Amino acid sequence: MIHLLFGLVLAWFAPAQAQAPYTISYRLAMSHPASHLFEVTIDVTVPANESSGVVDFQIPKWQPGRYSVADFAANVQEFGARSQNRTLTWTKVDDQTWRVQRQGNRNVTATYKMFNDDLSGTYAQLDVGHANYTGGEVFMYVAGHKSDPVDLHIDPPANWKVVNGRTEKPNQVDWKYPNYEILIDNPTEIGPDWTIDDFKVDGKTYHVVVHSRGDEGGRRPAFVRDIEKIVRAETAMWGVPEFDSYTFMFHFAADDRSSDGMEHLMSTQIIEPGILADRNGYDGAVSTAAHEFFHAWNVKRLRPIELGPWDWTRPAATRGLWIAEGFTQYYGIEMYHRAGFTDSAQFLRDISQTITFIEDSPANKLMSAEASSMAAPFIDAALHKQRTNLSNTSLSYYLKGELIALNLDLLIRGWTRGQRSLDDVMKRAYDEFYVKSPNASYYLKGRGYSIEDFARIVSEVAGRDMTTWFAKYVRGVDPLPYDEALNGVGLRLTKSQATQPHTAGIVIDRDDRLALRLGALETDSAAERGGLQQGDVLLSIGGTNVSRDNWVSALNRYKKGDRIPITVRRFRRTMELNIELGEPDIYDYRIEELPSASAEMKRLRAAWLDGK
Ligand SMILES: [Zn+2]
Ligand SMILES: [Zn+2]
Repeated sequence: MIHLLFGLVLAWFAPAQAQAPYTISYRLAMSHPASHLFEVTIDVTVPANESSGVVDFQIPKWQPGRYSVADFAANVQEFGARSQNRTLTWTKVDDQTWRVQRQGNRNVTATYKMFNDDLSGTYAQLDVGHANYTGGEVFMYVAGHKSDPVDLHIDPPANWKVVNGRTEKPNQVDWKYPNYEILIDNPTEIGPDWTIDDFKVDGKTYHVVVHSRGDEGGRRPAFVRDIEKIVRAETAMWGVPEFDSYTFMFHFAADDRSSDGMEHLMSTQIIEPGILADRNGYDGAVSTAAHEFFHAWNVKRLRPIELGPWDWTRPAATRGLWIAEGFTQYYGIEMYHRAGFTDSAQFLRDISQTITFIEDSPANKLMSAEASSMAAPFIDAALHKQRTNLSNTSLSYYLKGELIALNLDLLIRGWTRGQRSLDDVMKRAYDEFYVKSPNASYYLKGRGYSIEDFARIVSEVAGRDMTTWFAKYVRGVDPLPYDEALNGVGLRLTKSQATQPHTAGIVIDRDDRLALRLGALETDSAAERGGLQQGDVLLSIGGTNVSRDNWVSALNRYKKGDRIPITVRRFRRTMELNIELGEPDIYDYRIEELPSASAEMKRLRAAWLDGK
């Protein structure tokens, strides 16, 4: 590990030490919002003794928090370069790099337009109602100089105001950032009609910025109070945060489509498809806030070693997303409960639902938590040009990570008779790898942890060597030890056949709105054995004409061992096939009271449910 770490540190520091910093200033304008075109200008001044005759402007292939490749370069248009008023020649050297010849000049100005029309924590949107961006999808960096300080000036349209998590005064349009990584960690809203509400907890200021495209129903004051409850629940665990202010940026998109939550150092960007006036939009935004605010510690500051600074020319290979995202998923649900939004029964039902989802997934036997993390570029909202088998082989590091966190939390509570919990693991790791750790790069305080580092912290808190545990449940695919974990707090997991337990391994293509088409088949399923294949359109099951609404019930009139005639349309022909139902595919999992639960177990359970 030392050897590997040393190599990485050298790779990060070498370019920065070799090259004197450039002066780099960004200007962002949006003179025609209806065009969805941001106008970007980057002014670069190189030192007098700079030996390189070119300046390379590069747009990232992806940006943190979403690990699939986004290829922001696709939306760059009208690139140009000049020095003062002289045009400079440039060439495109690869799919993300524009190389400008300095021709002896120290000042180089690059200009381009960026088409953006997605309301998302990864992409940006400019339209007649607002501008909203994260950073990496709009701003190119100067290759080799990502570590240099940068300035930003924004020219908003008349009557539009700018706000982000680093806004310090009203009507601010200029910012200074220590490096490019921080520039693109600062989602920004520019518009005529967003609102801002503030509250304080432990002397720290919290801003709640809301842009509603639909009706708020007068619910904003209550909403801000509920966000404060989330902040109080999470700071009760972590302690007083190091930042002076933090900004929750909400969009209620009212388009029934846009939905996201993205974490940042000083802020979060949360996008709800509905409206604040509706229960779903309101609750969705509060529960997402519980997840994203937890990231202010877990992933943004306490982070896997691979997470920052980044190489924007290729996707990141990160082993620890099951901690970064999965543990945050667990604590998001926990904190929502600790803040009083769910009762204990609902909290246990929420966890049971995740267990059901993961245990019923075919990939649960194939893909480990660590492998899932490494597969992030392919499974994190990634687009695939070729057909994949990911529906059979990939598992969510969010949900598997949530269950690893659940198991560890309860095991530690049981083994230590309630003296310690997963909270202690998180706080100890935050302290060691962030607060007390020297800077490993220009990017941010501290150094990230390796999985081995994290396993050591768990072992220290649990009071036993956890190496084998990690090998089995994190790097391996052994079934999680739910019984041991839950029994410690007087609970148990029950497994029962679902009311409609058979799918025959059929996965319907959700994108085909016209036909009931097989999108995928589970490996070694009844449907596969019966000769069905991807692309078949299901017409009837057991003589009943089927649709999206009734195919499951038509199938579940049969039981294991029954032969079912099925009609499909394939290559413009109608075909009759027979499938024989095997073992049920779907089981329901429930967390229940252990009949023999002792008073001690109940005491530990109460402490867990109360967040103590
Ligand atoms: Zn907006
Ligand atoms: Zn997250």
